Amino acid sequence: DPHTVFPVSTAINDMLTVSAQKLKHLEIDLKIEGDTSIEVKGHMVQLSQVFINLINNAVDAIDETDAKWIHIYVFNNLSNRTIITFTDSGLGISKDIAQKIMHPFFTTKDPGKGTGLGLSISNSMIERVGGRLYYDPNSVNTKFVIELPQEKALI
Ligand code: ADP
Ligand code: MG
Repeated sequence: DPHTVFPVSTAINDMLTVSAQKLKHLEIDLKIEGDTSIEVKGHMVQLSQVFINLINNAVDAIDETDAKWIHIYVFNNLSNRTIITFTDSGLGISKDIAQKIMHPFFTTKDPGKGTGLGLSISNSMIERVGGRLYYDPNSVNTKFVIELPQEKALI
């Protein structure tokens, strides 16, 4: 149902069901901060899928580096938007490919390891509910931002 209202924590829990084992195995430290009880409106399963896409990308980028962490941060900003950020300690995104990463079928992964569809499909899902998904090129560590309309906006 496109009009379901649910806390962000529900989609995070779905993501953890899928990813916790892999994070543990790879010894990646996942930190979730902010207010995950914030409610958003949309397709719950689709937001879960977006989270899974973002965490899989982070895990792929971290694989062989020393620091191993992923931070998720959830908050409402002053512009009536709910912000969910995914930051990772992985190898980063070079300037020359940053403009291409959201394009369908763009991938830097070996054949069979990536379809290049994760970000573009995620972007479509988020745009369908009036939000945005983007890479923040100004962050020191690799950061993706999901922006959604705030469900309980103080207009
Ligand atoms: P795929 O994961 O199948 O390659 P995506 O659309 O999910 O497709 O991502 C496209 C490309 O964007 C990746 O191949 C990678 O080069 C880059 N990318 C996405 N997320 C990250 C990240 N967290 N760190 C480094 N590179 C990333
Ligand atoms: Mg991907």
